[in-house]
Amino acid sequence: MFSLLAALLVADASPTVTVVPLGAVPEASVRIAERAIGRTFRVRVVRARRSALPLTAFYPPRKRFRAERLLDYLEERGYPAHTVGLTVRDVSTTLRNRTDWGVTGLARTEGPCVVSTFRLGRAGYSRFASRLGKISIHEVGHTFGLSHCTASQTCPMQDLAGRVTTLDRSRDSFCGQCREKLGEVAKPVVLAEPMSSLKEAKPSSSF
Ligand SMILES: [Zn+2]
Ligand SMILES: [Zn+2]
Repeated sequence: MFSLLAALLVADASPTVTVVPLGAVPEASVRIAERAIGRTFRVRVVRARRSALPLTAFYPPRKRFRAERLLDYLEERGYPAHTVGLTVRDVSTTLRNRTDWGVTGLARTEGPCVVSTFRLGRAGYSRFASRLGKISIHEVGHTFGLSHCTASQTCPMQDLAGRVTTLDRSRDSFCGQCREKLGEVAKPVVLAEPMSSLKEAKPSSSF
């Protein structure tokens, strides 16, 4: 009885990640982001009503949206910490000495983040979906205080360094060090393919 109560209290204390579609976003994309976040973090994932992209964030010279202004908008509108603004439009920010650099996302620690599907490529839907899942957990990871990861070449918290293909090398779950930093917010990893890990465990297997 006590342990059940304790479990319920823990469940109640879980932080919430709010996903808000900014403008028209395909339902499938919203679900991919929500599932990836729910699989990775011990959080409650809720969806907020779709909001129009704010004109205050529009950057006319490149006809795209400034990511930090989208974050300002989410904060000003009172969206809670760990809100994910999801958009299909291109977003940019000032980065690496470039005043307007196109990015896949931007986040503030203990604040909101924005994820753009614009640069996730046209290399087939499964690759798009995989990249979207990884960039979603990357940005939410930043909101929970994670920095870019240098501990693992396959951690989705690696710096993308301007290349979306960096995501293709990463796994869809964080490395041990990032999980340790996340602490309670990290969800235990569930092996998606137990058969392949069994194969790896046997050194005698040649394939
Ligand atoms: Zn990052
Ligand atoms: Zn890591």
